[in-house]
This record gives sequence, C-alpha cells and structure tokens, in this order.
Amino acid sequence: MRVVLATVVFLLAASVAAHGAPSVVEAVRASSEAGSARVVIDLSAPATYKLFALDNPRRVVLDLADTVLTGTAQLPRAQGPVLAVRSGVQPGGTLRLVIETTLDDEPRATLVAPSGKEGHRIIIDLASADTPRTVAAKHAPRSGARDVVIAIDAGHGGKDPGAIGHGGTQEKRVVLEIARELADRIGREPGMRAVLIRDGDYYIAHRERIRRARAAKADMFLSIHADALRDRDVAGASVYVLSERGATDEAARWLAERENAADLRGGVSLSDKDDMLATVLLDLSQSANISASMQAAERVLDSFDKVVPVRKPRVQQAGFLVLKSPDIPSMLIETAYITNAADERRLRSDAQRGKLAGAIVAGVQSYFTRNPPEGTRFAELRRLASSD
Ligand SMILES: [Zn+2]
Repeated sequence: MRVVLATVVFLLAASVAAHGAPSVVEAVRASSEAGSARVVIDLSAPATYKLFALDNPRRVVLDLADTVLTGTAQLPRAQGPVLAVRSGVQPGGTLRLVIETTLDDEPRATLVAPSGKEGHRIIIDLASADTPRTVAAKHAPRSGARDVVIAIDAGHGGKDPGAIGHGGTQEKRVVLEIARELADRIGREPGMRAVLIRDGDYYIAHRERIRRARAAKADMFLSIHADALRDRDVAGASVYVLSERGATDEAARWLAERENAADLRGGVSLSDKDDMLATVLLDLSQSANISASMQAAERVLDSFDKVVPVRKPRVQQAGFLVLKSPDIPSMLIETAYITNAADERRLRSDAQRGKLAGAIVAGVQSYFTRNPPEGTRFAELRRLASSD
C-alpha cells in the first residue's frame, strides 16, 4: 500500500492564562494513506475536547477547551484526503481546529496519556465510509461499553413557577429550556446519555426526582435552577453540592427506612445489616459521594469560568433536598440570577442557554474522563490510553 507520510511540526511558546494553566498545543502532525488519515495533536496537558463533523463542504472540527496555540505556527499542509487544516479561537478560550477532508466516515478522537517519548496527545482518525477502519480500530472502545447516564432535573414546574424575573421570566420555563438543550448535547456525545427528570410544565416532588434518577441508574444528577435576590445587581452562576450536615440529616431517614430502601449502588444492601454496620456503610457512601459531587461540580464551575459570568468562584455546600442521593454524585446549578436584568436576558436567549449547556457538558465530560465509572466507554478509553 502506498503510504504518504508528511509530518509538520511546530512548536509554541507556552503561555499561561490568568485563570490557570491552559493546555498548549505543541505540535500538529498529519499522516494519510488511501482511504484514511490520522491527525495527532500534541499537548502540554490533557484538554477537554469535543469532536464533530460538518458537511458541504465536509470538515471535521475539534474544539479544545482552555487551550492555546500561538499565531505564527504552521498547520499541516494539504496531503491526500486531508485538504487543509485551519485553526481559530472561539469565545472563552476554546481553540478550534478544522480539518477539511474528503473522508466522510464518522471521525473519532482519543485522548492518549504520555508513553515513551510521546506526551499527552489527541489522535483523530478519519476514514472513508466505504473503507474498513483499520486505523481507528486500535483506539475504538470495545463494543458493549455502557453509556454514562446523566439525570437532568429542571427545577420547579407546574404549580411552582420558581423565581420570577422583573421582566416576567419564570424560572420553571427557562430551566426546562436549558435542561432540554443540555439533554440534546449530551445525547450527541459518544458514551453519554441523558434522562430528563421533567420534560414538561408539571410539578414533581423532590424525593420523586431522586427516585426517578435512581430508577434510570443515573451516574450523575444535575438539578438546573435560576437564583433570585432582592438586590438586582447580583448576577452570575453558582454551583452547589450537598453539605455534610444535609447528609447527616438524610442518613437518619435512610436508616429509619432501610427495610424499604433500595440498595446502594454497587449492590450494597443496608436492610440485612445491623444498625452499627448500616450506619458505617451509609456514612462511607455519603462521604465518598459528597467528594465525588464536589470534584464534578468543580469541573463544571471551571468550565463556566470561561463562558458565563460566575457569582461564586468556589463550589457551595447546602442541604438542598434534591441533592440527597447517598450514592449518585449530584449538583445543583444556579445558572444565573433571574432578578438581574442582564442575567434575565441571558436566560431568555437561545444562544446564551446553548453556551451554558455546552459548558456544563464540558465540565461533566472532564469529570468522567478522570473518574470513569466501570464498564463505560470512558473507562475503556482510559484503559486504551494508558496501554497505548
Ligand atoms: Zn430554583
């Protein structure tokens, strides 16, 4: 087989943005053969990314959150089925690489951990729809890996409008729009699936919301809200997880009802344990869950930092009832202040809601990349990356 291999490497000066250390693209390499091509992006650190394809003309787009590329660098020249590689900067510090190509099969990207002389890198495999995917196969996750399930809970609903903005915006309506947008985007990500706890204008009790998430075997629970305050100047998003105090109060209830309570995730039953052991097991599960929730919430908040105004730069803790699953990482996202004029406009804008949803997806994805639940595509990709 005739193999065309051209490698273009460019080096960049590392720069550090004000809000932390972004990942730096150190080189972009392309190689191709008949019917397939591979583009490798060498990075200084792992980056959260999103890959998608557009048609007419066909191009494959890689968005790298919080990643920089300096201006003077050259990208790989056209070769074979790779017609051009371009770059651009998206709002919020996202670097976009666009590959124009004749290869029309679904592109695949894999984040690979350092090994040997190679550092962190993202490998994009492109193929033509009528060519067997020999290039991609090595990096493709084993079929049968399950999706991570994200339960999305739009707050309030029906008789409960939630907070109301000075322009008349109802929280229950805008959070449902955000929840739907979020579910849509999650559904488009490989390895992820969304479940909407509420998908219409009706009220659901808090414990029923939790029950539905458990019934869906959710790996994460996101409750979407908009905040309100008398002071109209206060604006921006906040993210909450359950407080230790809230967990303690809930533990008493779980223990009291443990004959009827469902098993904890991982099949741990409390019903057949004596009081002492049940207390210890529940306590361990709750502590681990708050810490997982905290890590996930930090990822989402980090991701917000680049695209939406943030009120509190740290994850907050409170006793919100809806966060009280002892074993599903849960967070409540106050997306904005509906009582602030600019925030209220943001909540009403499709584009702004899209930005918000995109940032939440990026944060959640980044959490699961680092903390993949067993048996999922995230776990499989991590295993492949470390054995590469
Ligand atoms: Zn609310």
